[in-house]
Amino acid sequence: MSVLVVGSVALDSVETPFGKADDVLGGSATFFAASASHLTKVSVVGVVGSDYPTEKLEPLKKRGVDFSGLEHAEGESFRWRGRYRHDLNSAETLETRLGVFSHFSPKIPEKLRSCPYVFLANIDPRLQLDVLRQVKKPKLVACDTMNFWIQSRRPDIIELLGHVDLMTLNDAEARQLTEKANVVQAAQWIMARGPRHVIIKKGEHGAFMFTEKTIFFAPAFPLESVFDPTGAGDSFAGGFIGYLAATGDLSEANMRRAVVMGSVMGSFAVEKFSIERLMTLTRAEIDQRVKEMRKLVTFEEEIPA
Ligand code: AMP
Repeated sequence: MSVLVVGSVALDSVETPFGKADDVLGGSATFFAASASHLTKVSVVGVVGSDYPTEKLEPLKKRGVDFSGLEHAEGESFRWRGRYRHDLNSAETLETRLGVFSHFSPKIPEKLRSCPYVFLANIDPRLQLDVLRQVKKPKLVACDTMNFWIQSRRPDIIELLGHVDLMTLNDAEARQLTEKANVVQAAQWIMARGPRHVIIKKGEHGAFMFTEKTIFFAPAFPLESVFDPTGAGDSFAGGFIGYLAATGDLSEANMRRAVVMGSVMGSFAVEKFSIERLMTLTRAEIDQRVKEMRKLVTFEEEIPA
């Protein structure tokens, strides 16, 4: 079953303690698609400017990602410039240039309107709402956001919550959105406004999935070295939604498996700059890491005294 993702298609310039990259492929929709393409068919809706190196999308196209909904507009592509210092869990945004996204009005091609899984990746919540007015009864709609939009468009995000089944965000964003210091209370605040599921990611400390009655936790895969954390969140979402779409099962047990797949895909994304690692990844490597995740969290039920 297929997934529709709407989000930023960007050129990123990133600085980490280990190196620097300029104008590399980035954006929430790009990372999401690169990750989900290992599990299911993905279609991207977004916009790029006249300066965008479209030939660099070829490896994604070869992986089956559908870009028929990607608009090409006159002007500058979305650009994000960020830096990570030694705390690789939090990005410092140095510059966000919306470029062609500031006048973008998403038009979902007719054939994509009935995609059963829709991911509203991080982008202006007004565009996320616009997309929801065009799609036809998806099986699952999930959304993401970030500090930039919480600061400037909080009322729109709150409106969006009334129309989505699931929200993913990191712990700092959850605190900023809900004004609750405690993540459990933050998740309850979000669920009270619409979504039945909330995933709160805590970087290298793993991710929680909350429902009204249950809480599930999956660790982040403990990597010996994290090279560039950019895109971890979107790759997590791509693994999570991609797994749900591939299995077509929205039971609690399967959603827990999907969280583990999200964590595994996020862990690959951070091994190199941009989507580089996701482009060389094989199914065998994914399966192996899922197995290692299982070993990481399995223990005997009765702990001897
Ligand atoms: P994450 O998965 O949270 O690390 O997201 C990383 C991606 O988010 C980068 O590739 C950026 O291009 C993109 N990004 C940064 N700021 C924004 C923004 N305000 N709106 C949409 N996408 C953004």
